[in-house]
Amino acid sequence: MSTTLSERLTQELNSLREGGLLIHPRVLERANRARTRVDGREVVNLASNNYLGFADHPALKAKAESYLREWGVGAGAVRTIAGTLSIHEALERQIADFKHTGSALVLHSGFTTNQGVLGALLREGDLVVSDELNHASIIDGLRLTKATKKVFKHADVDDLDRVLSENDSEGLKLVVTDGVFSMDGDVAPLDRLVAVARKHGAVTYVDDAHGSGVMGAQGRGTVHHFGFEYADDVIQVGTLSKAWGGVGGYAAGHGDLRQLLINRARPYLFSTAQAPATVGALSAALEEVQRDPGLMERLWDNTRYFKAELHTLGFDTMGSVTPITPVVFGEAPAAFEASRRLFGEGVFAVGLGFPTVPRGSARIRNIVTSEHTKDDLDHALQAYAKVGRALGIIGG
Ligand SMILES: *Cc1c(COP(=O)(O)O)cnc(C)c1O
Repeated sequence: MSTTLSERLTQELNSLREGGLLIHPRVLERANRARTRVDGREVVNLASNNYLGFADHPALKAKAESYLREWGVGAGAVRTIAGTLSIHEALERQIADFKHTGSALVLHSGFTTNQGVLGALLREGDLVVSDELNHASIIDGLRLTKATKKVFKHADVDDLDRVLSENDSEGLKLVVTDGVFSMDGDVAPLDRLVAVARKHGAVTYVDDAHGSGVMGAQGRGTVHHFGFEYADDVIQVGTLSKAWGGVGGYAAGHGDLRQLLINRARPYLFSTAQAPATVGALSAALEEVQRDPGLMERLWDNTRYFKAELHTLGFDTMGSVTPITPVVFGEAPAAFEASRRLFGEGVFAVGLGFPTVPRGSARIRNIVTSEHTKDDLDHALQAYAKVGRALGIIGG
């Protein structure tokens, strides 16, 4: 007898339930803002990736609306058939100019960008060396390739050097890293990673999902921050779904990269082009971050303030240096309990435990945005103090 669908669903859900891994997403009842309404409660929102408040920004909404009126709700086809609108190409030129790269291509999401670019670039016999904490979409993207895959210890340049010394290839060698790591909030040591990659003739591939709109002058990203934006041996990919407020992904770098991706990146070839309203919003996001320096200033002022106050209270933020601010609670049940209690105090921040993060470093991940007021952050800090003391994480 074969397994019925009911049996399969029940088995799988039970095993998740027994492992405490069953997910029940909270539901936002208003737009994703610094203060919003979640599951019936008014909260300070520290759970979003909405670094610059672009998810609900008037300038983005205005351009999205105008593109919607002029261009309609859908692109009507995949890019390679009849879905490439001039607004797609204009957005790509805007991204290449912003990133100072020879070319850029827009895809549907950061997730599909990694699948598309890694899949298009890598062949059997190539060597990929990937940071152990890289994002799931990189891991899945690499699974689609026949390249030889090796892992180096997180942000450990000596270990990367060792792996590249022990493994050679006649083909392309690619070092893959996140720019900013999403769970820890630390920054890849790109200056030293690129130097080691170059020593071995390898190209560096940076997924800057959490770095674009956050790091570098005017939010140009981690690669810009380290001064490699003009380098032809550094590929930048990322998302348009976090700081940029919409949804999408991009790949930027060498002048010929775009042309190859147009021909080989499977999500680009086989999935309908981005909707006009989204293209409008993203175009406005790139204009706005360059027009309004206050966005980045407020983001970083809020980041420094929130971290300093958490340290004063006695919390461990894992040495994070970006707006991603983890607070360590030890084991997963403690982090989940803390998240529940914070929610009761009107603070929305998500608990993360094994297997999302290593055992013993279960945490609540907070993301500070430019749109939080000092009152919002103080409200969150008071809640943290109360919950941290009640759970014995901090003294006092
Ligand atoms: C969030 C994230 C992605 C996925 O981006 P989406 O546009 O949301 O699909 C890819 N890579 C990294 C490093 C991320 O943090």
